[in-house]
Amino acid sequence: YYDNNTVIYFNGNFVKATEARIDLYGQSLHYGYAVFEGIKSYKTENGIQIFKVKEHYDRLRKSAQVMHMPFDYTTEQLTELTYKVLELNGLSDAYIRPLLICSPNMGLSKGQKSYLTIEAWEWNNGYLANKMRIKTSPYQRPNPRAFHVEAKVSGHYVNSILACQDAKDSGYDEALVLDAKGYVAESSGANVFYEKEGVLYTPEKGSILPGITRATVFEICRELGIPYKEKLFTPDEMRGADAGFFCGTAAEIVALESLDDVPFAKNWEDTLSAKVQKAYRNLVVGKELEEFKLQLK
Ligand code: PMP
Repeated sequence: YYDNNTVIYFNGNFVKATEARIDLYGQSLHYGYAVFEGIKSYKTENGIQIFKVKEHYDRLRKSAQVMHMPFDYTTEQLTELTYKVLELNGLSDAYIRPLLICSPNMGLSKGQKSYLTIEAWEWNNGYLANKMRIKTSPYQRPNPRAFHVEAKVSGHYVNSILACQDAKDSGYDEALVLDAKGYVAESSGANVFYEKEGVLYTPEKGSILPGITRATVFEICRELGIPYKEKLFTPDEMRGADAGFFCGTAAEIVALESLDDVPFAKNWEDTLSAKVQKAYRNLVVGKELEEFKLQLK
């Protein structure tokens, strides 16, 4: 992720990653009380572009707000700082990780002082061709009455690590995690869709992080005239459907091969999901959907 030359933004300054220091006596480290974002930049025909930068920083602000963490940057300031981090590190296709930390305070009342850091590292999407074998996780997503699940809070990801590692230990690529009532929620770090008889389905809000990629899939579906529906469904309904995919900023749109060893029925290339995947790829590198629609014909 970094070497001796990597520069990060750290609370007002651009500093070497190896020289940034936070103290050990803080709520973020001890309790997972931090909020963050996962953003990507792409080399496009119009230069380097950070995809959906406004949406990501709006979500960071909302995350900080519901977690009572001091945060007074505007989206414009954050955007400018982020482009600067990319420039200082000579990055174009990159993953960007802003993180808001609270320190020092070891109590359980709200954070008094926060620090913003922005890290970035090179990211290539070479793995997109791989299809994932996934399993229904024995772990549930965090209870929405115990956590603000729509905020991107560091502590929530302890659950993600348990679910992801359990899937890997059982010989699968990723986990499909359910809510407390047994409905499909999402993956450890991405939203989920399945396709059946010409319609795309995805879990409604409630126990998920409503992803920016998920919203972009809706946008693409509307543009391409692909019907989609948000609804609660069980793994039984999803197993053996025509197709399935995970979507998130990091993964983009990644095809699923099977759920609990039951393969998805259609050849991926013949699905509407594959069209959405291609359209997303076009969008992130700055090609308008109109252009893509022409290519589809
Ligand atoms: N759910 C979880 C749990 C995630 O960590 C992510 C990645 N941020 C997503 C969904 C997808 O969100 P986005 O499309 O905004 O990256």
